[in-house]
Parts: sequence; C-alpha cells; structure tokens
Amino acid sequence: MNNEMKALSKLHSREGLWMTHAPVPEIGPDDVLIKINKTGICGTDIHIWNWDDWAAHTVPVPMITGHEFAGVIVETGSNVMDLEVGQRCSGEGHLIGKTSRQSRAGKFHLDPGTRGIGVNEQGAFAQYLRLPAFNVVPLPDEISDDIGAILDPLGNAVHTALSFDLVGEDVLITGAGPIGIMAAAVARHVGARHVVITDINPDRLALAAEVADVVPVNVAEADLAETVSDLKMKQGFDVGLEMSGNQRALDQMVEAMTMGGRIAMLGIPPGKSPVDWSRIVFKAITIKGVYGREIFETWYKMIAMLQNGLDISRVITHRFPVDEFEAGFATMKSGSSGKVVLDWTG
Ligand code: NAD
Ligand code: ZN
Repeated sequence: MNNEMKALSKLHSREGLWMTHAPVPEIGPDDVLIKINKTGICGTDIHIWNWDDWAAHTVPVPMITGHEFAGVIVETGSNVMDLEVGQRCSGEGHLIGKTSRQSRAGKFHLDPGTRGIGVNEQGAFAQYLRLPAFNVVPLPDEISDDIGAILDPLGNAVHTALSFDLVGEDVLITGAGPIGIMAAAVARHVGARHVVITDINPDRLALAAEVADVVPVNVAEADLAETVSDLKMKQGFDVGLEMSGNQRALDQMVEAMTMGGRIAMLGIPPGKSPVDWSRIVFKAITIKGVYGREIFETWYKMIAMLQNGLDISRVITHRFPVDEFEAGFATMKSGSSGKVVLDWTG
C-alpha cells in the first residue's frame, strides 16, 4: 500500500476545504483501517466549510473532515478478532470512552467525553480511515455503499423517530431537510397514522413527498391548522419531531400538539432561542433532546428496517466523484438538495 492518501481537509482557518495528501493512518491494536468507498456530506461539514463561529471554536486545523462513510476493512489490529479484512462496513463516528458512568451502564451514546471523527479526530473524507473496531458496523450485502454512507444521518432520524411510540399516532415533523424526510419515512414505516411534514422550501417538500407517503405543508404559504382539519384530526398531533432548528417551527409545533403530546428535538437552534414555557407546561408536553444515535441499538434497528422495506434511497439526490467535491458542497449549500454522496473509488 502506498503510504500517502488523498484527503479533504480543513487546512486553513477560513472558508473552504482543500484536497490534500496525508499519510495513511497507522492503526493501533484495537483499530481497523477502512478503505473509503462513499461518503455523505452533512450539515456539519457545511459548518466546517463555512468556518462559522461553532466550527472556529470546535475544530482544530488541520483536520480531515467527514463522518458519513461506507467502505471496506483492509487491515485489522492485533486485538481485533471479530472483524475480517474484506468486510464491507459503515461505522459510528462518535468515539466514546468506556469509563464514564453512562458507558459503564451501556448507554454509550450518553458518554460525556464523546469525540467526533471529522470534527475532533481525523475524519472520513479520505481514501483511508482509522476507526476503533468497536465503532464498526458491518454492512449486509443488500445495503449498498451509497446507503451505507448515509446511515449516520438516517440514524439521527431513526433515533429521533423511535424516541416515542408512533404506532397509530399522528406525527408532525418540522423541517424537511434530509433528516426530517428520512424520519417521515421511518414514521410511516413503523405505523404512524398521519405523518405531516412542514418546511418553507418547496423543493424540500416535493422531495419529502417523493421519498415518503406524507402530507407536506409549506408553512410560508399555508395554515397548518387547515391541514389538521382536512385530515379530520380532532385534537392535534400526538408526537412531534423537531428537525429544523428553527424557533418558529418549534413554536408552531407546540401550538399544534395535543394535551400530553411528546416532542423529540433533533434540530439545533443557532443560538439561544425564546421558548414559551407556559404553553408547554399547560399542555403537559414532554420534550426530549436527541443527540447522535443510540450505540448500537439505533444501528441495529435501522439496518433491520432497511432489510424489511424501509426505502430512503431517493433522499440521495446527487452523486459526485470526489474530485468534484466543490460541486458537491455547492449543491448541498444550495439548501434544496437531498443527500449528496461523494465517490472515492475512482
Ligand atoms: P437542514 O438544514 O438540511 O434542514 C432543515 C430544514 O428546516 C430546511 O429544509 C429548512 O428550510 C427547514 N425550515 C426552516 N425554517 C422552517 C420552519 N419555520 N418550519 C419548518 N421548516 C423550516 O438540516 P438536516 O441536515 O436535515 O438536519 C436537521 C436538523 O438536525 C438541523 O438543525 C441539524 O443541525 C440537526 N442535527 C442534529 C443532530 C443531533 O445529533 N442532535 C445531528 C444531525 C443534525
Ligand atoms: Zn452527519
């Protein structure tokens, strides 16, 4: 193996990412080396590209970005017994410690010391990625590398959607970004009654309707209350999945919930945002913050659902060879695409 690889890296503390050469990572006894085939561009990568306040305060430079990937194991550390060279895989990009109270209780996703690949540790936008074997998720043959590369955000959608029982429930999703759209498909798959998804971007709502059997509502133009009445819903939504990070969307969701409704919040507001707590109290609403994926229960469930008819393939709207990464990022930054996948196999 040549000991240099191509990598897409944050080389300078300013806007942009740069294609560079970096040494192929050396693995430790508990790691594997993964040859990357496909990667997904995430909103996080856009923050890092733009070098906004969050990125400038969080990401050390230089840093190979990217955390959504699928590839194949090409080397295993000496302690790794349960994985083999040649195994196709994706993997959990949150690297966790094993000594916190939460980890020792098996709640790995709640480890306070979590570090992210492509954010705090060298990432997956490269020909090779070092990953602890613990984080590897083998891919069954029927899950393509394209889908493997978006399991991380699908996992966010699944984690959020499965936070509350959806069977027979009326579900409101605010924000038809790639994650909101996938959450809508999951809600439908697991047996929700009505699944309504809102956005202010007609392209995104059109994509949502293409990917899943949902009711799209453009809240810039239409009144959500009318949809509720058209659907003959008597009281309001039972479960809300907030996936926009927009304060007005959360307000609208609280307004549209039934008494005792449950809200799972994945969306990240850009800063502090005002919340009318009295309405939440008087409606006896439960709000749960959702971060990442449950390690590894979310992975188990999403792979099982993909094997059992959940189809989110159309959420991938664009594919580029990695040498055209600038076009890929421009597409993602347009705000109207679904997932954009970069191909490293060329
Ligand atoms: P995205 O930015 O692509 O999608 C957000 C959507 O919300 C956009 O389509 C936007 O038009 C829409 N929107 C804006 N204002 C709205 C309003 N008033 N009502 C309804 N929709 C509105 O984001 P994404 O990649 O799909 O991710 C969804 C959210 O989840 C983001 O806030 C992201 O930061 C967050 N996120 C959280 C985690 C986590 O671990 N908690 C992980 C990944 C992403
Ligand atoms: Zn991501």
